[in-house]
Amino acid sequence: MNRTFPVDLQTHTTFSDGTDTPEELVSKAAACGIRVLAVTDHDGVGGVAAARAAGAKSGVHVLPAIELSTTKEEERDFLDIHVLGYGIDPDDPTLQETLKEVIESRVEQKIRQVRRLHDYGLHVPEQDVLDLAGDGVPGRPHIAQIAIQHNPARFSSIDDVFDQYLAPDAQDSVWVPRRFSLKVKDAIELIHAAGGKAVLAHPGVYHRVGNLEDAVRRMAEAGLDGLEVFYPYGSEDRGGDAEELIPRFAGLAERFGLFATGGSDYHGGSRKNRLGEAGLEWDQWEQLRHANGW
Ligand SMILES: [Zn+2]
Repeated sequence: MNRTFPVDLQTHTTFSDGTDTPEELVSKAAACGIRVLAVTDHDGVGGVAAARAAGAKSGVHVLPAIELSTTKEEERDFLDIHVLGYGIDPDDPTLQETLKEVIESRVEQKIRQVRRLHDYGLHVPEQDVLDLAGDGVPGRPHIAQIAIQHNPARFSSIDDVFDQYLAPDAQDSVWVPRRFSLKVKDAIELIHAAGGKAVLAHPGVYHRVGNLEDAVRRMAEAGLDGLEVFYPYGSEDRGGDAEELIPRFAGLAERFGLFATGGSDYHGGSRKNRLGEAGLEWDQWEQLRHANGW
């Protein structure tokens, strides 16, 4: 399937783990015929204003958005859950304050991980990791890249750094928990407080969740508004069979009274997901837009 959808509601920029700046992203979207784009950076809205300004010039409507990571809640079967927020006010003070806390805690977590690598005799300069992340928040791939640069004899690849040290289940794991992160209900409430709608991202990738249907039901009870039904399953590392999963999730959305969204999860050069490869048809967007005042 090589077509491009006119509406792509999940994309990432250099303000999280994407490789395109907001301006580059919008110009690529315009060039491939996308008319509505949501910039959904992880735990940050820093790219939204630039994307909207670029969109206004090139005729791409940019919906302000975010993708919030949440902490694991084993007792609720909420593991690695990502909650998308659409139509938020990026300048909302509660949102800004909470994101600042989330980001400080992520940076602090990564610095503690780097320091633990030093305990294993690896030279990984903290500042290089922060510089590599640039506008975005440092992540484990940044740590891995700097670890390879400074210790080429110890690692064969990024995966190798994860296998030896960075994965939570690595033998010499340096993983540490974050001091602050949001629960699913907090994420939903934060999005609502900022005037947005909360949508469960890519329901087909939560391989650690035992019973997805029950988990979605509990999220719906907690105020979830939508489900990201359309997603490029079967491509890259995301596994799954789109022909099986998409109808199943469309059914789930209907059952729990959730609206359906869709997006490519495009990250630029760091993943194979193609901009616009998944998304909404124009009439689906029109319905969503009218229902939500976007
Ligand atoms: Zn995600």
